[in-house]
Amino acid sequence: MAETGLYGGIELGGTKTLVAVGDADGRMFARATLPTTSPGVLLPQIAAFFADHAAGHDLAGLGVGAFGPIVIDPAADDYGHLLETNKPGWSGFDLVGALQGICNAPITLVTDVAAAGLAEARLGSLRGVDLGIYLTVGTGIGGAILYRGQVLPALLHPEMGHLPIQAHPNDPARSICRFHSSCAEGLAAGPAIMARFGASLSEFATGGPEHQLIADYLGQLCATLVLALSPQGIVIGGGVGKTPGLVDAVNAAMLRQLGGYAGRSAAYAGFLRAPALDQDAGIVGALCCAGLREPAHAA
Ligand SMILES: [Zn+2]
Repeated sequence: MAETGLYGGIELGGTKTLVAVGDADGRMFARATLPTTSPGVLLPQIAAFFADHAAGHDLAGLGVGAFGPIVIDPAADDYGHLLETNKPGWSGFDLVGALQGICNAPITLVTDVAAAGLAEARLGSLRGVDLGIYLTVGTGIGGAILYRGQVLPALLHPEMGHLPIQAHPNDPARSICRFHSSCAEGLAAGPAIMARFGASLSEFATGGPEHQLIADYLGQLCATLVLALSPQGIVIGGGVGKTPGLVDAVNAAMLRQLGGYAGRSAAYAGFLRAPALDQDAGIVGALCCAGLREPAHAA
């Protein structure tokens, strides 16, 4: 059980920010959704939320799951700073420093993907799983490795979305990743789907060629993760991940890609699974992080 007390959570997303007060088991007592505008507009709104909903209480901790790239290593000189990003006003912004000015509580910072993965590991689809992977497929592809209810430590953080995959010979689309000509994010994330098909995947028929192509790419990614880590389960979340029928199609593609090898590790019902917490995973995970005295890493 987490410690008692009132905790704060922030999920700083690319387009919207969720703020909540609750307990460190992820139960929310109050919440709000704010547009992720510029720091100068958003930070006072966050301060007002906590003034309204935690007035008279000292928060016992504040958990933050943030979009990146952001420095999450507490030992780094620029800990808590955003790195170069396309979002106006955020490059180089000292997020943790600004939040410390709002809220006099210990801050635990993780990536938004790690926060969502942590929530699925503690309360959702990866509960009880020793080694699991949380993948989010949306405007990008990100991933977190969860080990016994904690985020596996890493030098920066995993970049599973940029693992190389093989483009289909009949797929004329180019990778939209500016770093890689053939990575999963460049070929199968939401913007790549929009660029190629002119519509989101849910606009197309389940089992149709559009679904098959994206499922094949995500299946390649999952097969690589199975071979590298042998997880006991993989969650596929995110906006693209919610496309009806996609998880099953990715599962079939992953098994095809494995070619019968390592089948025992992945060929059971429910190995690939949908998230249980849906859109709340990030903010629930941020609250779970708030109760940690150490960064949300496995001991
Ligand atoms: Zn890439």
